[in-house]
Amino acid sequence: MLVIGGGVIGCAIARRLARDGVRTLLLERDEPGTHASWAAAGMLSPLVEAEEPGPFLSLLLESRRLFPEFARELLSETGTEVGYRDEGALYVGFTGADVLTLEERYRWQSAAGLPVQRLSGAEARELEPGLAGGVRGALRFPEDHQVDNRLLAGALRMAAVTAGAEIRAGVEVGEVLVEGARAVGVRTTMGERIDAAAVVIAAGSWAGALRGLPHAVPVSPVHGQLIALKTTPPLFRHVVHSPRVYLVPRADGRLIVGATVEQVGFRKAVTPAGILSLLGPALEAAPTLADAPLVESWSGLRPGTPDALPILGPDRDVAGLHYATGHYRNGILLAPITADIIAESIGGDQSRELTAFSLSRFSSLRPPS
Ligand SMILES: Cc1cc2nc3c(=O)[nH]c(=O)nc-3n(C[C@H](O)[C@H](O)[C@H](O)COP(=O)(O)OP(=O)(O)OC[C@H]3O[C@@H](n4cnc5c(N)ncnc54)[C@H](O)[C@@H]3O)c2cc1C
Repeated sequence: MLVIGGGVIGCAIARRLARDGVRTLLLERDEPGTHASWAAAGMLSPLVEAEEPGPFLSLLLESRRLFPEFARELLSETGTEVGYRDEGALYVGFTGADVLTLEERYRWQSAAGLPVQRLSGAEARELEPGLAGGVRGALRFPEDHQVDNRLLAGALRMAAVTAGAEIRAGVEVGEVLVEGARAVGVRTTMGERIDAAAVVIAAGSWAGALRGLPHAVPVSPVHGQLIALKTTPPLFRHVVHSPRVYLVPRADGRLIVGATVEQVGFRKAVTPAGILSLLGPALEAAPTLADAPLVESWSGLRPGTPDALPILGPDRDVAGLHYATGHYRNGILLAPITADIIAESIGGDQSRELTAFSLSRFSSLRPPS
């Protein structure tokens, strides 16, 4: 089995396949876990991310349910504590429009029986005294958690190798080789042919650039800038969202503030405008942050798709070709379920309903030339 890409998605798949006894080779162009999987904020937030009940919300919820055990397994396999935290998340509002947004979210989520609580501004400040006095109301999602994605990426890489997968860093795949409607391997950009019984596309934002694929894979980068402020002692326990920003407290005292959403191709840069767009909403949520040292800034590329849903499962025409890409804002959260889905897909188990996530939903797109 050959996996292209060594982010959390590729490494989670390689780990899972190797644990199942499948001979697995992962090829990574750079170092594993240094792209989107490193840049992310690590929120595991189905109730913030989904806008309605449906297959996407169900997928997010299922993966979230897998996470505590996933983190425990990684600890025992690698000795790495991946920073899984279960204090929950708050979605806070400051303006009249925010309050309406919160109301609407509370309406559909409570009607669907999801774990959401409605709080007054005073109740929100009781839970998190660092919130601005102007907070007018909040939703609490006790089951929306977080993980340290950088630790997770490292642990997944190590766990994949421990389970028996081979990882080759510094190897870029140029082309997927298809013969007689079957994927038979890849060719690297250095011209080496590597044969494989099946190929998994886990190349994140770059999946669409691979040659030889039978269909266009419409994944494109969505740039996100973040900063980290130091708050000692930590200002928050919950992950705090407003409609304009999120604040993610890490155990080491850093508070991650994110993130911009920009369509600027593959350009990665932290810009004054980007930082400015984060600081205003961060101070609106917590004015005391005005004095917090700014200790880090970075950015990354989310693998976006036209409908913001991931592309998961087998190719409809080419045997042995499987997709695990386009995770956009939720690839950290979706790593455990993606590994399960690809293991099932490779094993020929078609019992899971994947229509909403299949590549063929984009079948009107022209194949790559
Ligand atoms: C600012 C920001 C904040 C985010 N916050 C969250 C969050 O809070 N929660 C959450 O769940 N998700 C979040 N995400 C999304 C999440 O980071 C991504 O969805 C996830 O990391 C995608 O994982 P991946 O393995 O597909 O991609 P990547 O981590 O980008 O890995 C893809 C890998 O493939 C390699 N590759 C590409 N092409 C080739 C090739 N031809 N040959 C060999 N290797 C190749 C690349 O070098 C790269 O290492 C965030 C993302 C960003 C940018």
